[in-house]
Amino acid sequence: MHEADFTLSAGPTIASSRVREALGRPIPFDYDPSFLVEFKTTERLAADLFRTAKDVVMMQGEAVLGLEATARAVVHPGMKCLNLVSGVYAAWFGDWLRSYGAEVTEVTVPYDEAIDPAEVRAAIEGMGEVELVALVHSETPSGIENPLSEIAPIAKEAGALMYADVVSALGGTAVEIDEWGVDIAVAGCQKCLGGPPGISLCVVSDDAWTAIEANPAAPRGTFVSLLDWRETWLASEGRKFPYTPSVSDVRGVHAAIAECLDHGLEEVIARHAAAARACRLGAEAMGLELWPRSHDYAANCVTAIRCPDGVGVSETLAHIRDRYGVMLSGGYGELTEKVFRIGHMGTGSRSLFPLVSVAALARGLADLGVEVDVGAATAATLGSLSESGAAVTA
Ligand SMILES: *Cc1c(COP(=O)(O)O)cnc(C)c1O
Repeated sequence: MHEADFTLSAGPTIASSRVREALGRPIPFDYDPSFLVEFKTTERLAADLFRTAKDVVMMQGEAVLGLEATARAVVHPGMKCLNLVSGVYAAWFGDWLRSYGAEVTEVTVPYDEAIDPAEVRAAIEGMGEVELVALVHSETPSGIENPLSEIAPIAKEAGALMYADVVSALGGTAVEIDEWGVDIAVAGCQKCLGGPPGISLCVVSDDAWTAIEANPAAPRGTFVSLLDWRETWLASEGRKFPYTPSVSDVRGVHAAIAECLDHGLEEVIARHAAAARACRLGAEAMGLELWPRSHDYAANCVTAIRCPDGVGVSETLAHIRDRYGVMLSGGYGELTEKVFRIGHMGTGSRSLFPLVSVAALARGLADLGVEVDVGAATAATLGSLSESGAAVTA
């Protein structure tokens, strides 16, 4: 079976030729001086992308490693944590917090809504003391974006560390680590950056390092140890790794970040927003209902669409993959058979890729006997892309 012609899934997604060329270079020795320079440059570029002067640690595994490593480093038994839940990833994060012995309070909203900052304020008042506030900025499984810019200052005001999962936010929507006061942030590379999975980009503030150093439960001597990275790589000023890094992935990530910065981060974000809007309008014109209750908090990375009656998500995706060579996503976790997700991330947010995914979904559903307006869907998507003019400017 050959691979799909269009990978417009919820990530990993299409990589640009620049990223693929970087991944295809010879495999270097990790202590080759040229690789050491490349590694440090990648960290610095990542910091630019995060708009931060804080430390950036590149953990050598897919984003889940970065999330686990940072959470285990900072969370101590009895820590008073406020976990903000508007989706599948945040719910999992709560399970992690509890398993590390934290005392967890949660604000939970239905997974088709975003977190309201007023509820965060109220929850903090009710808790008395709060040491850590955790938020998933962009809930990829449900296509919802939470207002990190409003929530982080509330957490800081309460004296808490702000922890943000920005895995699918970075490169697709504004992430202003220093301006907003985020202490720990973890991004992935296979989402809006259009890079390979395999590296986690982790921001750690001085306050977070202080908390981590004071935490007797912070792991050491393991693959997930953030302290090991600090005490070897950061302390040696880039001369010693705690273990062999994923050299080729680092190069792919370097290319992905450099490409984004070369195009201009703001332009790239605008392109993601335009692609998302085009997909939302296409889905609505088709006659389907978006999963997010409002366009206001629909994410820029993926568009989540309610599955209409009379058809299943998996059968539709299989049909679309089979007949048109287009790989879209279904839901995740509890939403698996409830939503379709169109990814418009990285290269997939460029040009007419959003039209490909909307057309494939519309025609695929029509093939299976669902009444959808294929013509109106494609016209709405094209019209929106034409109007925004953002498709190829960046
Ligand atoms: C992709 C993603 C992760 C990482 O999870 P994987 O399923 O392993 O890719 C974590 N958080 C968010 C918000 C994500 O989008």
